[in-house]
Amino acid sequence: MKNMITNRIVSWGRQASCPLTTRFICQILMTSPSALRSPSILELVPCNLCGRDDFSVLFNSPLRVSEKDAADFMASTDRFDHYGQIVRCHGCGLVYANPRPVPRQLQEGYARTEDADYAREASSRSINAHISLHTIKKFKERGRLLDVGCATGYFLNAARLSFEPCGVEPSRWAGRFAREVLSIDVQQGSLEEADLQDDWFDVVTMNDVIEHLTDPRSCLEKARRLLHAQGLLYIVTPNIASLSARLLRGRWWGLRPAHLYYFSPKTLKAMLAETGFETVFEKSFGRIFTYAYWASRLSNYPRPISAAARTLVRRLKIEDKFLYLDTRDTIELCALKK
Ligand SMILES: [Zn+2]
Repeated sequence: MKNMITNRIVSWGRQASCPLTTRFICQILMTSPSALRSPSILELVPCNLCGRDDFSVLFNSPLRVSEKDAADFMASTDRFDHYGQIVRCHGCGLVYANPRPVPRQLQEGYARTEDADYAREASSRSINAHISLHTIKKFKERGRLLDVGCATGYFLNAARLSFEPCGVEPSRWAGRFAREVLSIDVQQGSLEEADLQDDWFDVVTMNDVIEHLTDPRSCLEKARRLLHAQGLLYIVTPNIASLSARLLRGRWWGLRPAHLYYFSPKTLKAMLAETGFETVFEKSFGRIFTYAYWASRLSNYPRPISAAARTLVRRLKIEDKFLYLDTRDTIELCALKK
């Protein structure tokens, strides 16, 4: 049964007609560096946590790219440099992309997003879903679960063993995959647009999602309204205060064009407290992927390092073997509705 579903997933992924567009913000930022100066495409925004608009520039990615580089970038799923300007708020310390593409541009981009390669790590993503569910079940063992930004629905497919799954996903392609291949109830669009009943869900999850939102504060407020009293919010997001982020600075793999916010445990818990949640669990989050996938994550580092990793994986014939890694730079957090 599992193989049958995996085969359907892979064949569905291969049917995708468009090239990879998952890093659509790269297109906005990269195809024309002059676009950065266009007020119709980029906007300056105040801090989403404290509302102040004074900040220091933390990182500024090089935008000296040719059209050819930009084309390569769009076709790659693992580029993480060229992220634009990242700032730190003087008031509360929140780190975020500023300026950034206007919300309309982002929403249209996400709606168009397709990623036929997503299915290649289907087994890994299913295992990672069970790692998340192991934590969630410490607080809620069953009930109605909403996954915000559910992508192709792998997490919800794993969750359905214990929960009644429901998803919201801006990508038309991914939402259709979840509905047609996995038969999961998924609404296409943003959480703000979703037609969902208040006080309805036992669990709301945001797996690698909050860093992509244009207004995380209002999404947390909506998540709170959707939850029952004492409902659980589960978040996984990169940790800008981690050791690797501080050591690697502008070369940290968490810095990506599609990431608009870079939370630390402190800023994330502060936003949760302000939106009516009490943090009850926090730790670093590890994941399982194939050795080939992990080696590919090194593709943006100096060539000798990435080439050596790929060669080693190939010679040891472990491309398809799984490796669990906790690089201590991803936050896993549970919060209860107050
Ligand atoms: Zn602030």
